[in-house]
Amino acid sequence: MNQYEWKTQSSEETSQFAQKLAAHLRPGDVLALEGDLGAGKTTFTKGLAKGLDIKKTVNSPTFTIIKEYQGRMPLYHMDVYRLEDAYEDLGFEEYFEGEGVTVVEWAHLIEEQLPSERLTIYLHHEEQDQRKITLLPKGQRYEQLCKEIV
Ligand code: ADP
Ligand code: MG
Repeated sequence: MNQYEWKTQSSEETSQFAQKLAAHLRPGDVLALEGDLGAGKTTFTKGLAKGLDIKKTVNSPTFTIIKEYQGRMPLYHMDVYRLEDAYEDLGFEEYFEGEGVTVVEWAHLIEEQLPSERLTIYLHHEEQDQRKITLLPKGQRYEQLCKEIV
């Protein structure tokens, strides 16, 4: 399986990388974000939002699980960290198959509910302001997407 790696040296660089990815996204795309607390998942999501021309400030939806933003296309931002039951059906599927892009922080916590085809993005805190971003595409759509941005 192919995987793609980048390093960023600041939160701005992570945001810029996400903006670049956003330019290639389509309705129905699902991005699964993984990484420890403070790795940069929300920072990445803010960059995505910017790239989708979303004007509202995106913040961590820790207590709401799902937030929806309107831009060039909708962005469904999920943070499932505090979801108590991994099998709880909050209607995730309708978002995954919706008219927007879905980004899920801590996606592995709802592994069973995720679509089998998705782009997993690992953020790893390397040192201070340096992060390693690894893209792992599952399915042809996401293989193609990765090739578009390298
Ligand atoms: P998470 O959502 O993964 O818990 P956040 O995006 O909320 O993480 O927080 C990441 C923190 O790390 C922010 O304070 C951000 O400014 C900082 N940071 C420093 N360097 C980077 C970088 N290269 N990429 C992303 N965030 C960074
Ligand atoms: Mg977060």
